[in-house]
Amino acid sequence: MTTVRQALEEGRSIEDARLILAHAVGRDPAWLYAWPERELEPAQLTRYRELLRRRAAGEPLAYLTGEKEFWSLPLRVTPATLVPRPETELLVESALRLFPAPEQSGRRQEPTPPPEPEDRSGKLKALDLGTGSGAIALALAAERPAWKIAATDVSAEALAVAKENAQRLRLENLRFFQGDWYEALPPGERFQLILCNPPYVAAEDPNLRGDGVAHEPPSALAAGRDGLEELRLVIAGAPARLEAGGWLLVEHGMDQGKAVRRLFRQAGFRSVETRRDLAGRDRATLGCYAPSP
Ligand code: SAM
Ligand code: GLN
Repeated sequence: MTTVRQALEEGRSIEDARLILAHAVGRDPAWLYAWPERELEPAQLTRYRELLRRRAAGEPLAYLTGEKEFWSLPLRVTPATLVPRPETELLVESALRLFPAPEQSGRRQEPTPPPEPEDRSGKLKALDLGTGSGAIALALAAERPAWKIAATDVSAEALAVAKENAQRLRLENLRFFQGDWYEALPPGERFQLILCNPPYVAAEDPNLRGDGVAHEPPSALAAGRDGLEELRLVIAGAPARLEAGGWLLVEHGMDQGKAVRRLFRQAGFRSVETRRDLAGRDRATLGCYAPSP
């Protein structure tokens, strides 16, 4: 018989062994600390060893558990979706700050008149291009229930996961479209806010072969020789899909800030600014589309 302590000892050299064991026995990691001498059932041990083997072969923990938290939302992820990264929360946070929630008149106890019909911020139309598991779109949908949010992906499998996440989280202010960047959308439709975390890693970047990353879809990460190929398309195409005064926010690599700001200005954006992630690295650039009269 194998105890919790012995099983952890067995996985000592493998990253995330404790989290993998917790998943295999269907408990949280704190339970393992509390019950080191508890014996594992044979099926649990078999499952644990199989998951350890896959983790040792470089699969990301999130693919083994099928779950990853983003913006405090538990999201289902599969090998068809990128594993959402904490640094992508910067994009969500920047969007929420650009468009703060309107006064929550509908939530007051006493009867109140209906909200102002002019309240454009309440009904804002936002677009998440390349939604993957749905991370960005779902975080916005949860924070701003009145917004109408469109989410796209070129991958039908990824989009199916995003839809499933929306259903499971009971978020209803979302529409999903499959296709290549803006081509996925109904012709002529415009937005006040576009967000995109596109693939931005240079094709030859050794990080693409790193732990975890090597098992993620290359189409979610690699973007040509300089990593800017998809960013060029997304930025250049945005003016045709933004209302005047609308905003574009993109994530990018830590050494791409200058090039991305230039692409924004070339496309007619003003107030162009790059923001840093929690590790202090350039990570997101935003700008306002203000066509000259
Ligand atoms: N938004 C998700 C996130 O932040 O976790 C996923 C981002 S992942 C870096 C890029 C996503 O863009 C992938 O889901 C990929 O399938 C999608 N994608 C790649 N090329 C695309 C294209 N030409 N048109 C639409 N989506 C694309
Ligand atoms: N930050 C991711 C990584 O380095 C890249 C994500 C992306 O290409 N959008 O693995």
